[in-house]
Amino acid sequence: MKRRELLRLLGGASIFPLSAMGNPLDFKPKNKGPLVLSTWHNQGQIANPFAWEILNNNGMAIDAVEAAARSMESDWENCCVGLGANPDRDGFVTLDASIMNHLGQCGAVAFLEDIKHPISVARAVMEKTPHVLLAGEGARQFALSQGFPIEEKKRSAHADKAYANWLRRSEYSPEINIEQNKHKVMPVPDMLESGEHNHDTIGIIALDAQGNLSGACTTSGMAYKMRGRVGDSPIIGAGLYVDNEIGAATSTGNGEEVIRCSGSFLVVEYMRLGFHPTEACKYACQRLLSITPNKTDNIQIGFIAINKNGEYGAYSLKPGFDYTVSRSDLPHEIRKPSSLLQK
Ligand code: ASP
Repeated sequence: MKRRELLRLLGGASIFPLSAMGNPLDFKPKNKGPLVLSTWHNQGQIANPFAWEILNNNGMAIDAVEAAARSMESDWENCCVGLGANPDRDGFVTLDASIMNHLGQCGAVAFLEDIKHPISVARAVMEKTPHVLLAGEGARQFALSQGFPIEEKKRSAHADKAYANWLRRSEYSPEINIEQNKHKVMPVPDMLESGEHNHDTIGIIALDAQGNLSGACTTSGMAYKMRGRVGDSPIIGAGLYVDNEIGAATSTGNGEEVIRCSGSFLVVEYMRLGFHPTEACKYACQRLLSITPNKTDNIQIGFIAINKNGEYGAYSLKPGFDYTVSRSDLPHEIRKPSSLLQK
């Protein structure tokens, strides 16, 4: 079957010549690995050196991605990862994380409170339980049983200020909960006070010197989300997917849209069909766009991907997304991928 026909059958993915795709072939590897990619420059610039330290010393990709994720979870100043991040609409910081290794093993936690390193709890779920995903109080109890300390319930100064401003503007009153009103769609702001989009998950994917792939993803989710809301980041196949035969992918942005199309799994499946990681990310964005019931005005999505050969790429729905790549010849470089829409 011709590539063109194949794409038509895949649905949603129209035809884009490689030449129109933001130079995907620039990213042909001179050497296979090690290699690590993280979503967003502000996070990747901090996190990638932690992963690189491990990868460059012949360490395993799974250890590298966990270390990178932990570095961001420790950053009390971060808007969108760890306990210092923005809270939900009731003022509580709730965390989602997932991790997946080269053996297809995976673990995740959702709606986790008071624990500093959800990514390590996710790894413990993977390694020490028969399950993949633990949520809420059960996840917290499991973390406790594994020796993770419970942190004081306290918002960071920046999150406290942002939350106070949001409360003032949204006039949110928990007593007359807007969620009760079936005719209204609950407002979650698209933009934060800072002018940034309301998301900034860190997703990290790595290829180690042994040629094994792993990935990790950690977030506080959308700021001012409904209490109990879980995004794509802890959902294996949505926010993260690794197939050691093929490649790894992770996402950032509006999690609901990514869940709808099993975004990261989809990227890996496009790579399985032979597409370059950049093309795979682009086709996943197209598919997402073709099935989203929401207006795209308020949506941003970014995918990053690595294939088994050490080729890498990314694509976003809108401009503004970037990522950090680290390889022996690329010391923590920032890349701005092409986007499907122009604004
Ligand atoms: N994907 C995350 C979520 O929907 C948001 C983000 O990228 O920060 O929870």
